[in-house]
Amino acid sequence: MPRYDANLCVSFDLRLIGSAFAAGARVGSRRVATLGNMTAWLTVAPGIHQRRYDPFDISIVVIEGADGLMLVDTRVQPGEAVELAADVAARFDRPVRWVVNTHAHFDHTFGNQVFGPGTATDAAIYGHSNIAAHFAEYEGPRLAAWRADPTREPERQWADVVLTPPTHPLVEPLMLNLGDRLVELRPQPPAHTDTDLVLFVPDERVWILGDLIEESGPVMYGSGSYPLGWPGVLDGLAAAMRPSDRVVPGHGRVVDRAFVERQAAELRLIADRFRAAHDAGLTPAEALAAHDDWSIPVDALGGAVERAYRALDAQGEARA
Ligand SMILES: [Zn+2]
Repeated sequence: MPRYDANLCVSFDLRLIGSAFAAGARVGSRRVATLGNMTAWLTVAPGIHQRRYDPFDISIVVIEGADGLMLVDTRVQPGEAVELAADVAARFDRPVRWVVNTHAHFDHTFGNQVFGPGTATDAAIYGHSNIAAHFAEYEGPRLAAWRADPTREPERQWADVVLTPPTHPLVEPLMLNLGDRLVELRPQPPAHTDTDLVLFVPDERVWILGDLIEESGPVMYGSGSYPLGWPGVLDGLAAAMRPSDRVVPGHGRVVDRAFVERQAAELRLIADRFRAAHDAGLTPAEALAAHDDWSIPVDALGGAVERAYRALDAQGEARA
């Protein structure tokens, strides 16, 4: 078992916890039952395809347009992105012209360099305007730590990673025209991270939510999460959805509005408990110990409760 630095590699650590949890009792059968999907493109709606890649059962989405392909997220490391590019070229008959990152986390962005400026693909990369700052705070130190001690995560090829933030950082929503269809990119307020961006394809009413929701494991409070704001962001998205809309999570199989509402309620309960414990003067550890029915593994809530407490402390100081 390699060693991980708790601060630098928090999202990777929690992803491991999430994977271990997903392999356990609560969702184990569901995860095993869906493994077959990882070997092929699944057509979510006409011209919209999801492929689930290991490691991490990450969702990659391709949206076909008359003028080219839009690729959503780029996998964990450059070697995997090279494989992804070959898979896309084998399955589709036109080039990738647009890449979109659903958020900054490494498992969604570390393949960017294979598609971006200076490559044969030379795609425009769209993402939330905070991605470059998130890279500087989390992903950059992660790479620096790896370079200082490559034995810490021997399964990663992080020596090859060149951090490649979006060429088109977004503050406001943007409608992109793929030739014969529109795709709306909607940067979100702080939630799973401060870099979340949702895609909406109006002609088929398909939503791509990144890690704002997860299906094959519990949602993850990874590096730079906002436990108090997250449920409200999901509530806002669910309010814009119709019951029959299809929703692609960052990890797992396609779900619907009811699933988003359930996950929003789970996250709201967690946020409410953190607030109540803070108001009652409990320490973060006491806040977690006060309940034995958390909807996600309590081991994965340590960073979340700390971040929630910091936000609540800051609110209290602002009021004082
Ligand atoms: Zn994430």
